Amino acid sequence: ENFQDVDMGEIVMGNIGLSRYTRPTPVQKYAIPIVKSKRDLMACAQTGSGKTAAFLLPILSQIYCEGPGEALNAAKENGKYGRRKQYPISLVLAPTRELALQIYDEARKFSYRSRVRPCVVYGGADIGQQIRDLERGCHLLVATPGRLVDMIERGKIGLDYCNYLVLDEADRMLDMGFEPQIRRIVEQDTMPHKGIRQTMMFSATFPKEIQILARDFLEEYIFLAV
Ligand code: AMP
Repeated sequence: ENFQDVDMGEIVMGNIGLSRYTRPTPVQKYAIPIVKSKRDLMACAQTGSGKTAAFLLPILSQIYCEGPGEALNAAKENGKYGRRKQYPISLVLAPTRELALQIYDEARKFSYRSRVRPCVVYGGADIGQQIRDLERGCHLLVATPGRLVDMIERGKIGLDYCNYLVLDEADRMLDMGFEPQIRRIVEQDTMPHKGIRQTMMFSATFPKEIQILARDFLEEYIFLAV
């Protein structure tokens, strides 16, 4: 019933302490140990349930528990040629600019004083500015699907080292017609395959289309409904 029940490492635990979160919400209580055990996850959870921290906290913790910065060093190594192309370790896909910004704000809060640098990209805003921000380093990327496809095509983002993938509000992304872009991103040859990367899907509903996406993107996943 406490965040202290699962050890997420000094940095993450310290940042939970700095936040106003005292007790985990139900989705956090169940999802955090599942993600920490490296299982894929399909979670049915509503907006307001605390689902953002339910995936951000264990992902940040994993990045650090796996020997601080092995993945960070790989990402840095590959960005060495002028840092023109970034290789995030974790990708979070979200349907709208508003949601992407909310996730980004939480990511900044929980990665405070860590070497993980979060970035956010979304459509309908100046791409030049987003590219300049990416070029400063990006380990955890929050993105809307259309803008991310654009960034990949421009050679600004490579997903070769993306060990953690989250699809947030997957049902809304499908309702908005993003399935082709999502498949384009996730089914790229360079993206670590399912079973190698860890994948988490969040959705308020679980209709046929989401079940198909879960079948295609997740490996022996745990189903959680809160
Ligand atoms: P979310 O469902 O992730 O959009 O979170 C909804 C709101 O609840 C956000 O404003 C979060 O900052 C807040 N929140 C998430 N988890 C907790 C928690 N354990 N304690 C207090 N507030 C939380």
